[in-house]
Amino acid sequence: MAAAAAAATVSGAVSKPVLLGGEPVRKGAFPTWPVWAGNDEAGLLKVLRSGKWYRGTGKTVEAFEAKFASLMGAVGCVAVANGTSALMTALHGLDVQAGDEVIIPPYTFIATVNAVLSKSALPVFVDSDARTFQMDASKIEAAVTERTVAVVPVHIAGAPPNLDEVMRVGRKRGLKVLEDAAQAHLGEWRGRKLGTIGDAGTYSFQASKNLNSGEGGAVISSDTAFIERCYAYHTNSSPRKGSSVKPAQGANLRLTEFQASLLLSQMERLELQAKTRDGNAAYLTKLLREIPGIVPAELESGCTRSAWHLYMFRYDARQFAGLPREKFLKALAAEGVPCSSGYGRLNKQPFLENVIAGRGYQRLFSAPRLKEWRDRNECPVNDRICDEGVWFTQTMLLGPREDMEQIAAAVLKIRAHAGELARG
Ligand SMILES: *Cc1c(COP(=O)(O)O)cnc(C)c1O
Repeated sequence: MAAAAAAATVSGAVSKPVLLGGEPVRKGAFPTWPVWAGNDEAGLLKVLRSGKWYRGTGKTVEAFEAKFASLMGAVGCVAVANGTSALMTALHGLDVQAGDEVIIPPYTFIATVNAVLSKSALPVFVDSDARTFQMDASKIEAAVTERTVAVVPVHIAGAPPNLDEVMRVGRKRGLKVLEDAAQAHLGEWRGRKLGTIGDAGTYSFQASKNLNSGEGGAVISSDTAFIERCYAYHTNSSPRKGSSVKPAQGANLRLTEFQASLLLSQMERLELQAKTRDGNAAYLTKLLREIPGIVPAELESGCTRSAWHLYMFRYDARQFAGLPREKFLKALAAEGVPCSSGYGRLNKQPFLENVIAGRGYQRLFSAPRLKEWRDRNECPVNDRICDEGVWFTQTMLLGPREDMEQIAAAVLKIRAHAGELARG
């Protein structure tokens, strides 16, 4: 209890919670996002003044692709408009077609499931692991049918599920493995960058992400034929000059030269930011682990680095005098510590049923298969994570160590007054 108790005293956790008339633990704001400087401005102006604003005339998108592939340790990269279209492009490159089945976790952003639906494929949910919040890889094999063609491990918060097990089952059952690494910039599995363990990986550069150009995305892989299929797809079915790829469907999902320029300049601070988050997250875990009722998400033992896009923990109201999570969140925010309840039950969202009940899916899948899908679409562990989860965002990990002490102090203060807050 020593470190957390020290943090509590330093920051005045003995006083009353704000919701009971006390002073907040934190008055200042956490670091804001995005961060930019002269290098970003110079790059953008250079593109502007060149008059070459798209990849057909400029060279910036290509330069970004080369640099990102090399940073990741991948052979190839196709930059695209956003993380959702990166997933759609990669699913195309992996030959996922209408009537196929794709295995995904339920604890993810809606884009993962939407990308699967965009191919008129059936998303099959595999339950989460309460310890890590990640897909429970030991449950993948039971979800495989003769129609399953791919599995999409999602590295939620920047950390992977057990990728050894995902790859073992994938290889054994002949499935393509697509890593949704939208939150996992510089995250690693056994020393290799996330997105390079499976057949392909996808990234997002949307405004909230750890590498940001407002919108943006990328597909990476070490399979050059796959990269060429993705390239043709993302630019309306036109293969790269000299490539022998057989073009099929396509769309315009190109990144602009402006975005590529921002990504190149933003990448210069990526490693330092990742190190800062990593150090702060480790310290925060040390402090929070000592507080009964706060259970920080664990990393798989093979995870050599998390990207810490989010900091997640489970909140056990029983250890806080029955104070419901929603009230805990309100009390914590009032102390100057912004927080949220995280994802809801994606596998139970009404839009899914609307799609499955539609004419297309009724034609593509048999009535017994769709009935079985509905009957088996239960993820009880994930339900629990959705009910108990609490998130901090990555920017909160970019400040000094004292910020972590204040977060812990705020939690301790609420716990000390949980009974009163519950009644109030
Ligand atoms: C952000 C995100 C996406 C989608 O990326 P966009 O750039 O917003 O389209 C996909 N999957 C996950 C897990 C994400 O966090």
